[in-house]
Amino acid sequence: ASEPIWTVHVEVRLASKARRRLDTVQDLVRDFITSSFERLSLPSVLGGWEVDQTLASSVERIAVSESSCPSTSLSLNEISLQIHTYQPSENDTVEEYANGSGDGGEGGLAASVSELPCRSWEGLWEGLIYADNIKLKLLDYIYATIILSDANVDFNLVSWNRVVLLHGPPGTGKTSLCRALAQKLSIRLSHRYTQARLLEINSHSLFSRWFSESGKLVQRLFNSIMEMVEDEDCFVVVLIDEVESLTAARAAAMAGTEPSDGLRVVNALLTQLDKLKHRRNVLVMSTSNLAKAIDSAFVDRADIIQYVDNPPREAIYEILRSSLCEFVLKGIVQEVSVPPLEDVLATEKHGWHSGTRLSEEIIDPSHAQKDKIGKALLGLADKCREQSLSGRALRRLPVLALARYIGTGVGASSIPTSLSPTRLSSKSALQ
Ligand code: ADP
Repeated sequence: ASEPIWTVHVEVRLASKARRRLDTVQDLVRDFITSSFERLSLPSVLGGWEVDQTLASSVERIAVSESSCPSTSLSLNEISLQIHTYQPSENDTVEEYANGSGDGGEGGLAASVSELPCRSWEGLWEGLIYADNIKLKLLDYIYATIILSDANVDFNLVSWNRVVLLHGPPGTGKTSLCRALAQKLSIRLSHRYTQARLLEINSHSLFSRWFSESGKLVQRLFNSIMEMVEDEDCFVVVLIDEVESLTAARAAAMAGTEPSDGLRVVNALLTQLDKLKHRRNVLVMSTSNLAKAIDSAFVDRADIIQYVDNPPREAIYEILRSSLCEFVLKGIVQEVSVPPLEDVLATEKHGWHSGTRLSEEIIDPSHAQKDKIGKALLGLADKCREQSLSGRALRRLPVLALARYIGTGVGASSIPTSLSPTRLSSKSALQ
């Protein structure tokens, strides 16, 4: 039996000044990979391409993506390479919609449009760490619906609404995950869609108070979505954040505190969403912190309802590890090697100081240090788990730790001198 062939996506970020033909660059990247590697690690960032003049002048980064294949490394003859080139846009927001309340901007920014892929969301995907492959599952699912619409599958036989709902406790990365997915899709679909845009609707601002204003705004928003969608070369992602606000608006309408305006706005939004389901170049993503409170009419429309929880021990370890590695990379803490989770778990399982470990330590004392760091970080991960810390709280933890360290007085002097004058100029700068 022949080996299964896995599709491996390679994402090539082009330099902003790159003017080469895309297919030329793709061919060069393919040649480079096939001639330089026997195996690829998934995921990984490739190096060594700089020696090729053309690649050096047109490419910034070549990254091999993770895949649903169970092993983390594949031999090239088990791989079918899909090479995607993209040039991230430099500007974040291209258009904004405010909910015109007039008095001090109570309504806030109700929506904004960004060009994708954009530079500020580079690395967002990699930085989000979940336990059970949620990211890939979602990506595969969305990919599947895109294949179906591409194949012109009869909507009477197989149908879906192009709506994804992520719900779970606050700070678990739901909004970021939607943005990261949108960015990923814009890269992976770049051969089909020359443009991609993300329209973010903040339902909380949209439904905050001024329902009569909101009604007009919903209309305006969906008019612009329709305009974007008319262009079949443009892939449009609509992100509806805090979708539970819809329910609040409906409830207020029912209770009679807000005349039927509120209800009209919610209904208008749902009707507009229904119109989008026939457009193949659209995806609607939504988030909520309170699944129970989401309008049932909205939940009914979601094809995927994914619960996103606070990270478990393993994911916490990886989140903390990636923060610590960044500290090392930027010279904030002294150079140490932080072991990957598998190593720590293996050591934990076989006892921290089994015979083999001890002999390794004699050969290489850095092993002992690595073990110690791994063990300490895993202990910390356990503590964070006990307190059910969210991903957001975990990403903040290193800042608090550094601040406390500096606060003890020993910190300032042990921070590398190369950093102290500029980035960590004084104790007060951080406080
Ligand atoms: P939510 O929409 O669920 O409230 P956000 O998307 O606003 O959460 O998350 C805020 C930040 O918290 C993210 O940008 C990220 O830095 C961090 N974060 C949250 N969850 C995770 C996670 N699972 N892995 C890594 N970082 C996370």
